[in-house]
Amino acid sequence: MPERSPDGDHRFDLIPEVYRDAVESVLIPAADIERKLDEMAAQVDADYADRELLLVGVLKGAIFVMADLTRRLTVSSAMDFMAVSSYGSSTTSSGVVRILKDLDTEIEGRDVLIVEDIVDSGLTLDYLIKNLRSRRPASVEVLALLTKPSRREVELPIAYVGFEVPDVFVVGYGLDFDEDYRGLRDVVTLKHEVYGG
Ligand code: 5GP
Repeated sequence: MPERSPDGDHRFDLIPEVYRDAVESVLIPAADIERKLDEMAAQVDADYADRELLLVGVLKGAIFVMADLTRRLTVSSAMDFMAVSSYGSSTTSSGVVRILKDLDTEIEGRDVLIVEDIVDSGLTLDYLIKNLRSRRPASVEVLALLTKPSRREVELPIAYVGFEVPDVFVVGYGLDFDEDYRGLRDVVTLKHEVYGG
């Protein structure tokens, strides 16, 4: 039987035993993420009706958003991925963006939707949008599951936002700390002693 959180409710039920001690709180439960993805997919479907979408996932954090969003879409969509470095194992952005893996696809003339896990300072996304725009796509829009508006350093147009979160370090649903915790189905915060934040 799964253990209960200290106050006896079920919020920690989806968190594997091995991670429970490290988790401070469940910020966004899996069920809320699922519902939000339904809504976002319906919006994307409506906006891109009769167009062919190229979804560009930003590795590795966006893998679950990509997978779960794509399976909900009814418009024609292809997938490609980029990997950029913005965080090492630390928890603050350096502002320096390096492309570790570029797209496999030419995007000239195509409708591109960048799929992000989280937009924090916005520096990574700002770089990505400029970089992709220079390849002359028909359009570039952004879908982000999470955003931290209070941390923004550059103004960014994000067409589809899942949840606004406060200035806290979160993991789960693709987001890691030191490559761990990505597989958690909820978005959670960690105890301070775990990540030193
Ligand atoms: P930005 O350039 O917007 O500051 O940072 C974007 C990237 O930083 C995200 O794609 C993500 O990899 C990482 N990041 C920002 N905030 C968090 C957070 O709260 N938790 C985790 N795990 N990664 C974050």
